[in-house]
Amino acid sequence: MVGIAHPTHSPIHPVTPPPLMSTKVLDIQNVTVSFDGFKALSNLNFSMDEGELRVIIGPNGAGKTTFLDVITGKTKPTEGVTYFKGQDLRKYKEHEIARLGIGRKFQTPRVYLNLTPRENLDLSCNRTKTIFPTLFKKPPTAEKRTVGGLLETIGLDHKADIPAALLSHGEKQWLEIGMLVAQSPDLLLVDEPVAGLTDEETEQTGNLLMSLAESHSIVVIEHDMEFVRQIARQVTVLHQGTVLCEGTMDQIQNDPKVIEVYLGKETSLTPEQMLLLRIAATMAWADDNFADVQQQVILDRLSRKFAHAPEEQASLREDLKDLLAKDIPLEELVPQLTTPAQREQALMLSYEVISSNQINETEAIIYQTLLNLLDLPPDTVRRLEAAALEELAVRGD
Ligand code: ADP
Ligand code: MG
Repeated sequence: MVGIAHPTHSPIHPVTPPPLMSTKVLDIQNVTVSFDGFKALSNLNFSMDEGELRVIIGPNGAGKTTFLDVITGKTKPTEGVTYFKGQDLRKYKEHEIARLGIGRKFQTPRVYLNLTPRENLDLSCNRTKTIFPTLFKKPPTAEKRTVGGLLETIGLDHKADIPAALLSHGEKQWLEIGMLVAQSPDLLLVDEPVAGLTDEETEQTGNLLMSLAESHSIVVIEHDMEFVRQIARQVTVLHQGTVLCEGTMDQIQNDPKVIEVYLGKETSLTPEQMLLLRIAATMAWADDNFADVQQQVILDRLSRKFAHAPEEQASLREDLKDLLAKDIPLEELVPQLTTPAQREQALMLSYEVISSNQINETEAIIYQTLLNLLDLPPDTVRRLEAAALEELAVRGD
């Protein structure tokens, strides 16, 4: 190697790479949408990479639908810019944006009920082609293969030739997703795809979206937390028209800001009380079956503590259901209890929850784990268990 000049890497002159072309499929910069002075979106910044599957959650009124409206051009931002693959969307009208490659699936399926799934898909495929009919003319066999492939993707190949009116709600949703995909969008926007679906349909919808995510960028807006957990990689939480936080499902569910937003300010739940509820919920989830009666116990305790009006209670109940997420290990939760009084309360509430119906083996095991972690004197444990059973008996039902 003698005599050969080696390139030196001087720290004084670091090699700076040339600026890369943006590969962001969406880049939303400082977007505000005002309706008569009310900001539905407020200085919102958001971006996602090509090929990403992003889930957006947020309480009612957070601005989720407006967010989609801005991307599709239905609503124009009062301030700020939205870029789709580097193109400034301010220049385009709604139908032009759709043609650029953004497909939106609305909450209620928009399929032709008197046509079959195959005919519905045929129409969608042709709709794209009629823009440049001569350029895009394909032999009928190739087209058939496309529609056939789509039918397979959405799991409707066995129902391809019956009227769409006979499909279940979930199957109609898949058909509409298929009709969007038929138009080959680069970005798919999906608004609450599993509202009103059965558990099985919900899971299949998740699988469908995940398989589509291999070849599309997808934004999903969703309330169903279990579903979000199934599909989510990166989650964005919207609140009051702006991004509250972003991260994995685990990160956002343990973020105090998110918990606060989902519970609403008017509830005076303290972080300690929240922790107690989460421990009780983890117990209830242990057997993968958060029974209604167990939810009832948790929610009853809440209502008695905070004496909300019935309608407030109902919405709190919905929010809590989302919040009381499963799969948070007790080993993480219990050490956060700081006083002996809190540890006693955690035991009592948890014992009440699992005793609200027949304690099964899984529940017995997790309860033992809880006891070990709480490390309370045996006398205290017995006293609290008795008190918990009394609570249950007093409430009757
Ligand atoms: P989300 O979909 O998260 O429930 P929206 O985007 O529908 O929220 O609405 C965000 C806020 O903007 C709400 O307070 C809503 O009342 C308000 N809003 C939405 N659209 C309009 C409109 N066209 N005129 C006035 N206010 C609106
Ligand atoms: Mg909405």
